[in-house]
Amino acid sequence: MTQAPDRPLRVAVIGSGPAGVYASDLLSKSDAVADGDLEVSIDIFDRYPAPFGLIRYGVAPDHPRIKGIITSLHKIMENPAIRFFGNVEYGTDITLAELQERYDAVIFATGAYYDASLHIPGVDLDGSYGAADFVAWYDGHPDVSREWPLEAREIAVLGNGNVALDVARVLSKHADDLLVTEIPDNVYEGFKKSPVTDVHIFGRRGPAQMKFTPLELRELAKSRDVDIVLYDEDFEFDEASRAAIESNNQIKAMIKTLDKWREEQKENPGTASRRLHLHFLQSPAEIVGDENGKVRAIRMERNELDGAGGIRPTGETIEYSVQAVYRAIGYFGSELPEVGYDKLRGVIPNQEGRVLDDTESPIPGLYATGWIKRGPVGLIGSTKSDALETITHLIEDHSFSASDAEPEHVNEFLDAKGVRFTTWDGWHTLDEHERSLGEAATDAAGQPRKRVKVVPREDMVNISRGE
Ligand code: NAP
Repeated sequence: MTQAPDRPLRVAVIGSGPAGVYASDLLSKSDAVADGDLEVSIDIFDRYPAPFGLIRYGVAPDHPRIKGIITSLHKIMENPAIRFFGNVEYGTDITLAELQERYDAVIFATGAYYDASLHIPGVDLDGSYGAADFVAWYDGHPDVSREWPLEAREIAVLGNGNVALDVARVLSKHADDLLVTEIPDNVYEGFKKSPVTDVHIFGRRGPAQMKFTPLELRELAKSRDVDIVLYDEDFEFDEASRAAIESNNQIKAMIKTLDKWREEQKENPGTASRRLHLHFLQSPAEIVGDENGKVRAIRMERNELDGAGGIRPTGETIEYSVQAVYRAIGYFGSELPEVGYDKLRGVIPNQEGRVLDDTESPIPGLYATGWIKRGPVGLIGSTKSDALETITHLIEDHSFSASDAEPEHVNEFLDAKGVRFTTWDGWHTLDEHERSLGEAATDAAGQPRKRVKVVPREDMVNISRGE
């Protein structure tokens, strides 16, 4: 540690999702700060005009419990030691060198927002979509098209993680049932046109290896006029699966849920106009197109349990008639300008959050946290412990290196560059505006809506800046 000069430690955080906000919170409440040994001043930058990253643009709109996290993030952002600069793209609007001149440390918290690649024939056909793109559309992301072709009656969703559940649940819901959420008008109109009757979720492993979580799985049963369909042949467990179920309370709870649904299905096969099928032990082999290059089917390969907790292909294939395929097989982090990138894992090379150079030595003052640090796994809560590790190292290493650490100079610099940045006050204005749009609209029960999101970037910026 160097002797503290008479100024706060200036820290820039790139990304205002949970990773960036939790890291800022932990830094501002660290022991060093609480004991009066260190003062910090934190600026969070985001490429979007509104804060909260994945919470605003990655969480399903019908997940108000998770949206509730916004309330806690809000409280954190009210801390006067933390400022928000939205609509600022790292690498172009502000470069690493420009940040290093103005900040003693930079924390990358940019997350992972692209789909992992799937290498099977037909993956590029019209009607084969990455889940991340679809999630961005239904969450009103400013940079994706306003239109989404919801034309398929039968849909395959690949993957057995919570994103697959989100996508399948939202796809199978009736549009009017989404009006209690904050979906933008274009998204409601899109879902209203959907002729969907059957959504098939495919997991390549067995029910004992699902990556769902119990609460999220149970939520599937709450959709109105949607029956869940399960297949008995997927529930013949081997010894390894039985051991997995016994040793993991989450899996045990989910198997219980699935067994209950199977019982209910036997007693009452269901009459809903939409069905959500859960298939296990099937890997995608090929997306099959028609003569116009549009998806017309998916060919799945049947797997069997291998007795050791894994699976092996049986050689049997099954073709399902579907007109759209959504790939929810995991996210992948993107490369950022001027820092290293691990192409295999989609993360910034780092050691416990200290960013590494080509020789695997820590680069002074550079840190990473969240999914760009550890990869796209874990619930939002696990981001906190991750941030703690990064922040602990940042405080251990800290040094007052910035040559121009005057907070107001950042605003002047961005203004001079013509960057139309948004601020925390601007977010309050946009937030109120979106709430007022909600109050002026009604849901299917005639109740005012809580919020209607503003989608176009220019509108978000203009409203935030009061222009
Ligand atoms: P995930 O949990 O890692 O699930 C990815 C799924 O894709 C797994 O079932 C995986 O199967 C499957 N997969 C991977 N490659 C495949 C391939 N080539 N063919 C077929 N299947 C393949 O990822 P995620 O669903 O994107 O979620 C990311 C994180 O965000 C998770 O921690 C998740 O819990 C969290 N999240 C939480 C919520 C919530 O509501 N709480 C919502 C969304 C996301 P294997 O298991 O066999 O590898």
